[in-house]
Amino acid sequence: MKLIDAHTHVQLRQFNPDRDEVIKRAVEQDIWMVNVGTTRKDSQAAVDLCEAYAEGVFASIGQHPDEREIFDYDWYMRTGAHEKVVAIGECGLDYYRVEPHLFNDERDRQIELFQQHIELAKELGKPLMVHCREAFSDVKSVMRKEIGDLSADVPGILHFFTGTKEDAKTFLDFGFMFTFGGLITFNREFDEILRYIPKERIMIETDAPFVTPDPYRGKRNEPAYVIEVAKALAEVRRAPFEDVCKQTTQNAKSAFGI
Ligand SMILES: [Zn+2]
Repeated sequence: MKLIDAHTHVQLRQFNPDRDEVIKRAVEQDIWMVNVGTTRKDSQAAVDLCEAYAEGVFASIGQHPDEREIFDYDWYMRTGAHEKVVAIGECGLDYYRVEPHLFNDERDRQIELFQQHIELAKELGKPLMVHCREAFSDVKSVMRKEIGDLSADVPGILHFFTGTKEDAKTFLDFGFMFTFGGLITFNREFDEILRYIPKERIMIETDAPFVTPDPYRGKRNEPAYVIEVAKALAEVRRAPFEDVCKQTTQNAKSAFGI
């Protein structure tokens, strides 16, 4: 049964001791993954991993809104043309850690950085991998202006969705897909949203090494555990496990063009 972990970070240092085993543990069970970059160096590391494995390993490149390095547009443009780079991001807006007195400057900085990713996605014809935390209204207004010019079949993926039903509706109208991760295995707050979003628009992720699903909580997360997310999704949606696996994999394939 093939599964695709649509958003993970196996290139991060938490996997330095055993990265190869972690990847093989997933790929041997037919679990594929998209490693998502958060800085330029980290994005390069994600691309290097694609090249090191014959199958099952893909990359998304970008700069997380919390990261403050200078965005090297030309580097991202060149690297984004790689056939195994399947999305642009992690990009988006994150106001969670912003101190109130810095808010206006920080908001401007993040919006400008987000817009550069949107430019890239337009030029490369690849979907956006969007991170949004406590910033739904700004992400929506940026997307409203830009959505018409995005040319990928699925214009964007909203990773680790924590918004409301109304937010979900807006992004459904934009043609976005949504990913859910370990949180849904132990937090029941998302059940209503999980039943609301049509099955053709949901993908599963681990966001490893973070947000470990039940029954592995307290341990480092890894792509092989995405099966626990699939089980939780099946349970919440009262759907057969096999159908959830098949559908989420099909969704990931169409979003990422793989
Ligand atoms: Zn992430």
